[in-house]
This record gives sequence, C-alpha cells and structure tokens, in this order.
Amino acid sequence: MGNNYNIAVLPGDGIGPEVMAEALKVLDRIKGVSNISCTTQEADFGGIAIDNHREALPESTLKLCKNSDAVLLGSIGGPAWENLPPEQQPERAGLLPIRKELGLFANLRPAIIFPQLTAASPLKEEILHGGMDLLVVRELTGGIYFGIPKMREGDRALDTLVYTKSEIEKIAHIAFKAAKQRKGKLTSIDKANVLTSMVLWREVVTGVAKEYPEVELNHMYVDNGAMQLVKNPRQFDVILCGNMFGDILSDEASMITGSLGMLPSASLGEGSFGLYEPSGGSAPDIAGRGIANPIAQILSLGMLFKYSFGRKDIYNVVFKAISKVLDKGYRTKDILTPGCREVNTSEMGTLIAESL
Ligand code: NAD
Repeated sequence: MGNNYNIAVLPGDGIGPEVMAEALKVLDRIKGVSNISCTTQEADFGGIAIDNHREALPESTLKLCKNSDAVLLGSIGGPAWENLPPEQQPERAGLLPIRKELGLFANLRPAIIFPQLTAASPLKEEILHGGMDLLVVRELTGGIYFGIPKMREGDRALDTLVYTKSEIEKIAHIAFKAAKQRKGKLTSIDKANVLTSMVLWREVVTGVAKEYPEVELNHMYVDNGAMQLVKNPRQFDVILCGNMFGDILSDEASMITGSLGMLPSASLGEGSFGLYEPSGGSAPDIAGRGIANPIAQILSLGMLFKYSFGRKDIYNVVFKAISKVLDKGYRTKDILTPGCREVNTSEMGTLIAESL
C-alpha cells in the first residue's frame, strides 16, 4: 500500500494555470502507473486572490497549505496588479509572506542543461562541453528582502541587510549536505570585501565546513561569481548564496540552460514539507497564447516527490520522460531550434505524461 499525500495546488496568474494543468496531467499519470495516492486541492493565490478575496494570500489559502504535505505553485503577478501600492502587490503581499509563514528558508534551484538543448543555450557549445549541472542553494527568508527597517521618507529610501549566525548555519548545512550527495564541491558567494554581514557569512560558512571534510569549499565575491558563471559554468557544483545574490545568480544560471521555462525550484523548511514552483514568473508577455513551456512546472512536481515524499525514483522517471520527448525533437517555442518540431503547452504536457 502506498501513502496518501495531500498536495495544495496554487495555479496563480499569467501562465501559471496553463502550465499547472500540464503538471496535473503528469500527476494523474504518476498515480495511474504507481501505488501512490495523492489528493489535490486548489486555492487562489496572488493576483487572482486579490481579485476574488481582496488579498494576495488569503487566510483560507494559507490554512490549506499548512494542512498539506506539500504545495505545488504556478507563478503569480502581472500588469493587472502593478498599479496597486507596492505592499499590496502579489509578490510582496503573497510570495514573501507565504515563504515566511511556512518557514521555507532554503531555496534549491537546479540548473541542468539537457544535452539535447545545448543549442538553445546563449552560451557557445565549447563553453558547455555538452552540458551543465549545478545547484543554487539560496537563503530565502532573511537578508535584505526582509531586514527591518525598510522605509521610504520622501527622497530617501532604506532597506536593511541583516543576517544572524544561526540563519547562515541553517542554510549552509543544507548546501553542504547537497554537495556531499553530488560532486562534493561548494562555492559560497558573498561580498565580504565591502559588506559587514558578508564577513559574518564567510566566517560562519567556513566554520560549518569543518563538519563536512569531504566537501571542498571555496569562497567567491558575487561580482566574480556572476562573471565565472558565464565564463565557465562547469566549474560549479553547488553554489551557496544569501537571498538577493541567490535571486540574481539563479536567474543567470537558469538562462544558461536555454529558457526560464525549463527550471524548477524547491523551497524547504525544517521537515519534509516544501513548496515547489518554476524558477520563472508569470510571463505576462506570453500568457493566454498556449505557448508557455510546462517543463519547469512538471520538474517542480518531480522535485516535490523527491524532497517531500522521499521518492527520488519518481523524480528520475519524470526527468527521463522529459528527456525522451526532447530526444524525439519536440520543443515549445522558447527552446525551439532548427530541425525540431514545435508543440504547444498542452501537447508538450500530453507527450510527457504519455512517455512516463
Ligand atoms: P518572467 O519570469 O515571468 O519572464 C521572463 C521571460 O521568460 C519572459 O520573456 C517570459 O516569456 C519567459 N518565460 C518565463 N517562463 C516561461 C515559460 N514557462 N515558457 C516560456 N517562456 C517563459 O519574469 P518577469 O517578466 O520579470 O515577471 C513577470 C511577472 O511575474 C511579474 O509580475 C513578476 O512580479 C512575477 N514574478 C513572479 C514570480 C513567482 O511567482 N515566483 C517570480 C518572478 C517574477
């Protein structure tokens, strides 16, 4: 007998509902071919929740998430809500509080290039040498996005970058453990040459490293890190960053893979609970046209099985199903290269579900 899991499904805005529909197709197929039983329940979150409930994160949505084993999120935001005061907009009033409320302090963003897609990467083949496989581990509930005071006084505005030893230790352990299970290499990103909080960051990460003698640690300033990522991305295995640097570098790493539409992410807390979503946003420029790439959302579902349900085998099966579909030359518009066959969002989802 398999377990019964509860998954909260938050499709969100823009392309969110379009790509979520494809992930749910894949989930149905997983249920059909395995002994896993999952119950899904949908709720409004983001712009749609502002429209329907007058707040980005309604109490009922938060309650559903807290009562679930994991959350599968699409993406939120878009031009319809950009004229609201900043503190009421979907990202500020939805994403940041949901992470904080659910205690999701660690964001894992794998940036993997499928060998079939090296031609879709903006980097030259000779830099990629047939692939790239790195993991960005980003601290998610501290740093400058959350530091207080945060205020505006007329022509003067202020944000605060604050980290404590325990916050840095928690995220460093996640990164070292991940490196131990991968190639054993960890690069910690900071700006210790000018920021006091980053001097502490470097000190604490160096201390945690003593507990992981099998992992090779090196430190890199963020400006150099941004440059090294495009110069020689294959030198990295696990990249550990604070909240803002991780936000920026993970988008940079993701673009190397060809499209934001390829990249999943997991946000984890202390236990097995997690929130899984594509690395990209709601892509208003292509929403409603049926051309969004659903692979990031489908891989996010795969990560949900791996990290929250301990089913790495299911993640592997999903990964292989995607790889098979790419092998056959099917591509959504964002990853289309000459000689391949263009399919829409729904066709891509069906192909992946069928190849499972
Ligand atoms: P974006 O990630 O939505 O889009 C950037 C570019 O990537 C666009 O050209 C888009 O078409 C493309 N893209 C993204 N996902 C794709 C997919 N699955 N398939 C094909 N192409 C894809 O970033 P943005 O334009 O800066 O932001 C749009 C909105 O999303 C904003 O309101 C922003 O606040 C919000 N946002 C939400 C999240 C989230 O929900 N976690 C994250 C980032 C941005």
